[in-house]
Amino acid sequence: MRLILPNPRGFCAGVRMAIDVVDRVLSLNPDRTVYVFHEIVHNRHVVGRFQERGVVFVDDLAEVPSGSVVVFSAHGIPPSVRQIAADRGLIAIDATCPLVTKVHSEAGRYAAKGYTILLIGHARHQEVIGTLGEAPDCTVVVESPEHAETIELEQTDRLVYLTQTTLSTDDAGAIISVLKRRFPKIHEPSEPDICYATTNRQHAVRQIAPKVDVVLVVGSRNSSNSVRLTEIARNVGTPAFLLDDADELDEAWFPNGADSTVLITAGASAPEDLVAGICRTLIERFGGSIEQWDIVDESIEFALPAALRRMMADAGLDGHASISVDSGLSGREAYGAVPLTVSARSEPPRSLSEGSSA
Ligand code: SF4
Repeated sequence: MRLILPNPRGFCAGVRMAIDVVDRVLSLNPDRTVYVFHEIVHNRHVVGRFQERGVVFVDDLAEVPSGSVVVFSAHGIPPSVRQIAADRGLIAIDATCPLVTKVHSEAGRYAAKGYTILLIGHARHQEVIGTLGEAPDCTVVVESPEHAETIELEQTDRLVYLTQTTLSTDDAGAIISVLKRRFPKIHEPSEPDICYATTNRQHAVRQIAPKVDVVLVVGSRNSSNSVRLTEIARNVGTPAFLLDDADELDEAWFPNGADSTVLITAGASAPEDLVAGICRTLIERFGGSIEQWDIVDESIEFALPAALRRMMADAGLDGHASISVDSGLSGREAYGAVPLTVSARSEPPRSLSEGSSA
């Protein structure tokens, strides 16, 4: 079996930051329960590993005792939740991805200028709920091209569209086309809201999926960007499967058995060790080789949240730390295959286990 791993895949800078925030908050507060509002990132394993370390995940701040430390997840929150936390005297650490915060800021700016905001995204996703909360009276969520065809607006002179950060660029483009046709004066964000990580991972799948027999996407069912990667692979005609880990592998997915070529990518919230586990299992069953294909270089750095930096400084630690993501591809030839050939039943090479995904 020929396994192809694309770069980039897996963790993005926002997910790395959010996970690091909870990690550091746990270290700084060894004697108290740490609460996280919603799943810190949409991945079953990430959440489960933190639960094993005592973190309590809640969907309602009423469950958090007054005076406790609570971390807001990477997907962002509406301002009303921030206010409830302040009213309850909670010590809030906001791990919202800065690229989600950017969309919140845009919503606030356009609302202040009297615009109606058409927010393209999934109405029940936490990120959309958070952005909607910035300007609930002048925001309309648009979920599909069909929906875009039918929405009626009181005024169309001051209109802007914004998008959820983890949409399929194809799906969002189809909705935007309808909106531009129906509302020619509509403004668009100065920079795309769909983030670099979503765009790059989708680009890699679009490039490679037509060349393989099967695509595996490592990620949880509630991970928007992981589900989109699966859809993109299917859209180019390649069977694609979303799986949390190696336990969910199904031999029926590989009708060509050991002769299959398989692309294994991972959503932005999926840990690299799960990718390695899937590679290990497939190589043990079928034998074969592993290649890494370099598609896009990523080098992004996010500062830790201010409240955490203050907490660290109070503890005498470096409060200026930031989380950097560098895929290390600079100078490497695109599509270059890394020599990671392993034999059946052998241990995967160390470099695979350690991973280097962005
Ligand atoms: S997928 Fe994009 S918006 Fe979401 S956490 Fe990662 S970098 Fe931020």
